[in-house]
Amino acid sequence: MSGHGSWDWSDWHSQVQHTITTVEELREWIRVTPAEEAAIAACQGRYRWAITPYYAALMDRDDPRCPIRQQAVPSLRELESWPTASVDPVGDTVYRRTNRVIHKYPDRVVILVTGLCPVYCRHCTRKYHTMTPAATYFARHEGVSWEEDFAYILTTFPLLDRDQPPLPGEPRSFITRDQALLALFELRRKPPPEDIVAFFAQAGADIAPVTGPLRDLRERVLWAWELGAVAYVPSRRGGEEAVEEVETSEIEGEEFAG
Ligand code: SF4
Repeated sequence: MSGHGSWDWSDWHSQVQHTITTVEELREWIRVTPAEEAAIAACQGRYRWAITPYYAALMDRDDPRCPIRQQAVPSLRELESWPTASVDPVGDTVYRRTNRVIHKYPDRVVILVTGLCPVYCRHCTRKYHTMTPAATYFARHEGVSWEEDFAYILTTFPLLDRDQPPLPGEPRSFITRDQALLALFELRRKPPPEDIVAFFAQAGADIAPVTGPLRDLRERVLWAWELGAVAYVPSRRGGEEAVEEVETSEIEGEEFAG
């Protein structure tokens, strides 16, 4: 590692700032083979590549079969075409629900927090996101608001609130969802939605069937508190019944448990 910069090896900002993106930079770390050089040129504009100095320091300088090196340095084999190959084998484009949320399995979501990978792994199963900049990680710009993403996630809390008093006209309480969402808006110093049904619709969630006449988010939380509702308390009646409900409904987009 010595001689390769004076930056902080334990600081990821520093690593990203000094990311290796050219053959010349890569040569400071390994003896680049003609095949590797050809692959780097061939991947230009097709599959992104970048290697942090930390990762480069782990690579064998002379052996192109070094597994860490093979994970990070482009290979001509990436450009071979296979009839069944897909740039989205894990189905991110199918299960994407909002700009940042991928909801494939009932009880967990993936949140896309950035379009940047410090090292572009050659084996990546999310090649769709790491192709040319045109095939961005995000359906929309990375800087767009997080409220819709969190709103979607907040519709997936089946084990909360079932023992809490509901608002008028609603089948159960949604105090955790509403309180967490209100806190997010306050944290971001934005006015909370006056119509949560419309707001959730933007996030791809139809909560109209379970929402009563009170739709202003702040008023909902205040009224729920007046009724004695408490957020973040696991329901005694949740359990398997609630999980089953999510498994059969949310993933198909038919209903949101809230
Ligand atoms: S998404 Fe993950 S596996 Fe794919 S290139 Fe980025 S860090 Fe590597």
